[in-house]
Amino acid sequence: MIRYLSAAGLACAFGLSALAMPAPAEASACSATVEANDAMQFSTRALSVPASCKEFQVTLKHTGQLPVAAMGHNIVVGKTADITGINADGMAAGAANNYVKPGDARVIAASSLVGGGQTTSFKIPVNRLRAGEDYTFVCTFPGHAAIMRGKLSLAP
Ligand code: ZN
Repeated sequence: MIRYLSAAGLACAFGLSALAMPAPAEASACSATVEANDAMQFSTRALSVPASCKEFQVTLKHTGQLPVAAMGHNIVVGKTADITGINADGMAAGAANNYVKPGDARVIAASSLVGGGQTTSFKIPVNRLRAGEDYTFVCTFPGHAAIMRGKLSLAP
C-alpha cells in the first residue's frame, strides 16, 4: 500500500511538473490547443501542421459555461472548397452525430461536440494534407461556422 501511494504521488508530481513546464519542442509541434467560449469564438484563426508530423493532435477546450445544447462547439477540418457542404450536411446530421455527416469523405478530421467546461481532442492524419492546399476548420454547430472558422495549412 505504501509503495502504491508512493508511486501515485510520484505520478502526480510528475504530472504537475509536466503541466508547469513548457512541453518538449517535438510534442508541441505536433499538437495544438484551441479554446472556444460562450461568445462563439475560437482562440485561434490559423493552425499550421508541420509536414514532419505523422498525426497532429488538436485539443478543443470549451472555456465557457453554457451547456452543449445551447453553445456546443466542435472542430471539423476539410478543404476550404468543401467546408460549405460539410457544414450544411453536418448541421442536417444533428447533435447525435456531433453535427458531422456520418461517413463524409470530405471531412479530414473532426472532434466530438463539447459544452462549457468540457475538453476533447482528436487527431488529424497528416498524410491527408497536401502542401499548397487550402484547408479550413470550423465549428459545425448550427449558426456557428460563419464566425467560428480558421485556416489550416501544411507547413513545409
Ligand atoms: Zn460552436
